[in-house]
Amino acid sequence: MGHAVRAVYTYSGMADVAVETHDPDYQSAVKSLWDNIVNKKYYITGGVGSGETSEGFGPNYSLRNAAYCESCSSCGEIFFQWKMNLAYHDAKYVDLYEETMYNALLGSTDLEGKVFYYTNPLDANEARTPWHVCPCCVGNIARTLLMLPTWTYAKSADGVYVNMFVGSTINLENVGGTDVQMVQATNYPWDGKVTITVNPKVAKTFSLRIRAPQRNVSGLYRGTPEADGITSIAVNGVAVKHATDKGYAVIKRAWKAGDTVELVLPLKVQRVRASDKIEATRNKVALRYGPLLYNIEKVDQDVSKALGADSPLTTESRGDLLGGVVVIKGKFADGSPMMAIPNFARTNRDPVAPPPPPGPPPGADTRPPRRPATSILWIKEA
Ligand SMILES: [Zn+2]
Repeated sequence: MGHAVRAVYTYSGMADVAVETHDPDYQSAVKSLWDNIVNKKYYITGGVGSGETSEGFGPNYSLRNAAYCESCSSCGEIFFQWKMNLAYHDAKYVDLYEETMYNALLGSTDLEGKVFYYTNPLDANEARTPWHVCPCCVGNIARTLLMLPTWTYAKSADGVYVNMFVGSTINLENVGGTDVQMVQATNYPWDGKVTITVNPKVAKTFSLRIRAPQRNVSGLYRGTPEADGITSIAVNGVAVKHATDKGYAVIKRAWKAGDTVELVLPLKVQRVRASDKIEATRNKVALRYGPLLYNIEKVDQDVSKALGADSPLTTESRGDLLGGVVVIKGKFADGSPMMAIPNFARTNRDPVAPPPPPGPPPGADTRPPRRPATSILWIKEA
């Protein structure tokens, strides 16, 4: 309850106290708060805060598409999930912060990173702005995205947790008695192939725990067909069987510099439907590919049309569009073509809409009447 940004910052600190002190009251509290947010007050983009209270949470299941979802609450939501992952070593927390990062947070800036959204409604109808009378988000977005190395790995005394799949070279100190350089090469989330080179300074035995993504962590949303887990893992070219623990594929062996792990993640176009308890999304469907949610935009089609329930959905790599994206294609119920673009790239091609008038930080009742949305996430389904 209350102000969504302050809430998730507070809960992040509470998760720290819980893990440091093992205080059962703190542990119980952070798990209860987590459950209420994720299973009753959580947007499919990983954003929080419906804005029905001042910059805050609404009642359970009250998730209107004219969401508040302040960019700072996306940052705080990532911090909270990250702290919960450090506390409980469960990959589901990373599944959630990956979702928030690729959708609610990444889409808060334009593709050039020059203008930003303070609020992130799911049915967008405004241009991003260069500044806001309450300038908290402008620095927060950048510092959170710049912490990508922090979000990518975690470590324990006996191993490394591979949390994010991001092309990178990152050094981890003191893993199983040595320092380890981790190198990832991947085009994820556009395709599911990931190559990880493990370079310990000294050959040592330790565990590599690789997140096996679960796409339906929140009980509010269900995507089909299923696209969870890891399709295959090979070490130095040889397929390996692995145990799974708390959402991680575990490979324990003696690692030496140059060992490579190749894995394939199942990326499929999913139709996601929300719990009937959420009024705003009834008879609507969202499109997802890997961690990415998709929007349909007025610049490409009439966004009030309904998507055919049985319309096949395909992907197409479009290097010429929005800096290079994979689009989803299908047909509306009337047979006309539908094209969806990643939610993070939304409203980058609109004719410039006038910025909202200056005023106090927008709360539920102070915003001007909404214009029709030009970019929507939840599509009518026929
Ligand atoms: Zn903010």
